[in-house]
Amino acid sequence: MSVELSKHPTPQAEPPRRYDAIVIGAGINGMYQLIRLRELGLSVRVFEAGGDVGGTWYWNRYPGCRFDSESYTYIYSFSRELLDEWDWSEHFSPQPETLRYCNYVADKFDLRKDIQFNSRIRSAVFDETGDQWELETEDGRRARARYLVMALGPLSAPVMPNIAGIDEFEGESYHTGLWPHQPVDFRGKRVAVIGTGATGVQLITEVAKTVGHLTVFQRRPNWCSPLRNRPIASAEMRQIRARYPEIFARCMASEGGFMHVADPRKALEVSAEEREALFEQLYNTPGFAIWMGNFRDTFTDRAANDTISEFIARKIRERVNDPRLAELLIPKDHGFGMRRVPMESGYYEVYNQDNVKLISTLETPIERITPRGIRHGGTDHEFDMIVYATGFDAMLGSYNRIDIRGIGGQRLKDRWAEGPRTFLGIQTAGFPNMMMLIGPHTGASFCNMPRCGEENVDFVADLIRYTEAQGYTRVQPKPQAEAQWTAHVYKVAERLLISQTDSWFTGINRNIPGRDKRVFLLYGGGAPRYREKCAQVVASNYDELEFA
Ligand code: NAP
Repeated sequence: MSVELSKHPTPQAEPPRRYDAIVIGAGINGMYQLIRLRELGLSVRVFEAGGDVGGTWYWNRYPGCRFDSESYTYIYSFSRELLDEWDWSEHFSPQPETLRYCNYVADKFDLRKDIQFNSRIRSAVFDETGDQWELETEDGRRARARYLVMALGPLSAPVMPNIAGIDEFEGESYHTGLWPHQPVDFRGKRVAVIGTGATGVQLITEVAKTVGHLTVFQRRPNWCSPLRNRPIASAEMRQIRARYPEIFARCMASEGGFMHVADPRKALEVSAEEREALFEQLYNTPGFAIWMGNFRDTFTDRAANDTISEFIARKIRERVNDPRLAELLIPKDHGFGMRRVPMESGYYEVYNQDNVKLISTLETPIERITPRGIRHGGTDHEFDMIVYATGFDAMLGSYNRIDIRGIGGQRLKDRWAEGPRTFLGIQTAGFPNMMMLIGPHTGASFCNMPRCGEENVDFVADLIRYTEAQGYTRVQPKPQAEAQWTAHVYKVAERLLISQTDSWFTGINRNIPGRDKRVFLLYGGGAPRYREKCAQVVASNYDELEFA
């Protein structure tokens, strides 16, 4: 039986509330996990740090924020009724619409009654005597459950840059991942943006439309490609709705859960004309076609990768008027697609505006933030506003900021000090009954989130059902199974050029002490292979897991 938590602060001495399962996070995956666990007849409580549902789409409200996945692929597939009821208005939905979708789902399935908002979890400790997790929120409330599902989101711990003087700035300042709920006005203001990843690229393009003067501080440039968004008229939406089964089947067949399936030919086995024609066609196709639908070996072979990098460099040179600026915007340290490709809608043309300036901080880092602005290369630049588009402590940050302790009081942070070790990215040895959604090394980590996320959630629900049905109270991976999966993740990654590049995929974040050694945080074997492995695990009655 579920017990409702009191709405008023509870003294710490009060005994913890008890549930069958606790989910941390009410984003896309946490919401669906709640639905699936309810179906098992379990009492479930979801703890959410934000004030409402939506996760990523709740926090990232910065101007320009939108899907880079086709809207109709970034949707729950579990309910035909839900699919029939929801209309997308654009091929790549803007953040407010996506958040409305999350709210619609929460209302339809009456999810909020089991979600405790504004409740950040401080600690999660496994009690070995009762095989229960005990959690404590930052305001000192406690709750216990047999199962703990981490729906923390891979990109949910925003990181400020390690630049001196950040607290001294007297103007407005924002991190994109903690954007205010009130509109921010850029008109007539001198605005600085630090960071040019997928977020910075979306934000800069939008801010440039109304800003007084914009200065972009770019460290390493990224390879960006046109999103080619457009509205969806109601007749087109009807067609899309009729095609949902086909759309989902196509996503399932692709490596990354997208509509775009890699071309099996090698880039250099076709003629230069054929290659150029394909690149041109992909450049004009909406979404990630140019990344995911390109010659497969652009991910694995440097010479093949050079062909697409040269093509995109040419496009940048064509679009940016000042050749010196164009060169600054072309990455020189990595090839196309080795880091996450930002999708853009007029990004390069922003640098043709008279009121936009690009400052490269690659050779000369920002010296410090001052009360009036930013000091760089001995010059003080004054600003009314600084926007930090400096990203996240990807994959690990959301775990590390909770004090998670497993068997023998071992801290997860310590166990993963040299990089995560997991079985399927879903469990880690020594932390029984803790399941991770889109954790490091899951198939969902390098995939269109809801497509692979739904599969993660279903796997976890099935595993919990099995554990309950067998009368077990503990489940965790066998150490050997974990070692094999982790080795497999690295073996697969070795082939990929992305594993040889500094990015959040490889765990590099120089704003965080000790995070300058590459590990691999994704699963690079593709969604179909991951799905097959999960199916084998289920078919073997979870042979690689240890039950007690
Ligand atoms: P990011 O890709 O990690 O980019 C952070 C940016 O900040 C980089 O340009 C980085 O430069 C710069 N930076 C960080 N610290 C700095 C410092 N101390 N000095 C100067 N520059 C600094 O973060 P993000 O753009 O927020 O994107 C993260 C991920 O979120 C994306 O890869 C994507 O998966 C997801 N995302 C998705 C969407 C979407 O689906 N529509 C939109 C936005 C983001 P360096 O590159 O030199 O480190």
